[in-house]
Amino acid sequence: MSISTAPFAALDVRSRLGRLRARLADATIDALLVSKLANVRYLTGFTGSAGVLLVTRDGARFVTDGRYTQRAREELDGSGAEAQIEIALTGAAQRELLAKALAPGSRLGLEEHGVTWAQQIEFSAAFPEVEIVPAGELVEALRRVKDAGEIDRIRRACAIADDAFLSLSSMLAERPTERDFAVALEFAMRERGASGNSFDPIVASGPNGSKPHHVPGARVIERNELVVCDFGCIVDGYCSDMTRTVSVGDPGADARRLYEVVLRSQQAGRAAVAAEVPCAAVDRASRDVIADAGWADAFSHSTGHGVGLEIHEAPRVASTAGDTLLLNDVVTVEPGVYLPGIGGVRIEDTLVVGANGAEPLTLTPKDLVL
Ligand code: ZN
Ligand code: ZN
Repeated sequence: MSISTAPFAALDVRSRLGRLRARLADATIDALLVSKLANVRYLTGFTGSAGVLLVTRDGARFVTDGRYTQRAREELDGSGAEAQIEIALTGAAQRELLAKALAPGSRLGLEEHGVTWAQQIEFSAAFPEVEIVPAGELVEALRRVKDAGEIDRIRRACAIADDAFLSLSSMLAERPTERDFAVALEFAMRERGASGNSFDPIVASGPNGSKPHHVPGARVIERNELVVCDFGCIVDGYCSDMTRTVSVGDPGADARRLYEVVLRSQQAGRAAVAAEVPCAAVDRASRDVIADAGWADAFSHSTGHGVGLEIHEAPRVASTAGDTLLLNDVVTVEPGVYLPGIGGVRIEDTLVVGANGAEPLTLTPKDLVL
């Protein structure tokens, strides 16, 4: 094991509430009710499973329940987030506390992608004096560009995934089932310091490789066949994401050609990644290589996505994305080709967007044959 144990660079949590507040006027709202837990964590450092944050033009009020009285104080003190902490045991009592911070007649934004219909009704009833409006994804827009502390954590999560996979390469030759290999990967990542999976590992062998999100099962991974392994872990809240397709022994000429096309596609996508490049251009760079090989219809998903506190976050790297990459976005490039009845290949790296190119954080070599 060669995972660094050095302390992480500090997260710049302290500045985030101010940067969000600066966007409230443009969003034509006086306050934002942050209810998505990843967004609450981003703004306050709070890692618990329940809590909402009300951000107004001149303050912030964080409300949670009695399970988190001590932890909320510790975590908010630790992060330097300036928010008043309130504890109330019921949802109704929590909403009453939040209502006190809202001026009558003000416009309150809700996170429309994170609020249920029931919550919208509850908030409307609890805040009769304010106008409730959908407020898009203001915090997600801040989250996409990572600070040094965030990149440090994602880098560690990637290094753990790399080292776990390397440590298990010999296991593949022992004809494990897909499920056994997936479980071994999970265990190896936990052993190296991950707090959990960033998603359930995908291990798709032989013909199962044609299903991009195959659930690892009882099928034995044989020699001379493709196996798609897509996995990642979480370190201090931050995710990694990597796919490698390998074969124990030569998988044959057709599989080698498939692999070679996807590898060139992945290299083309990676080469296109840089600040100020449209996300759609990265998608096109990857997609064109696969289309030229005649497999346009077999590349059935977008080229990549942002990675951070969530495994899928802004920006999307897709043909329909209107976004442009920004310096210190963290994104994946993961083209694949899926041929029903035959199998599939996907190759994925997690990358930091730099001014002139991308820095890969997942470093496992891309040798097809083990
Ligand atoms: Zn992945
Ligand atoms: Zn991915």
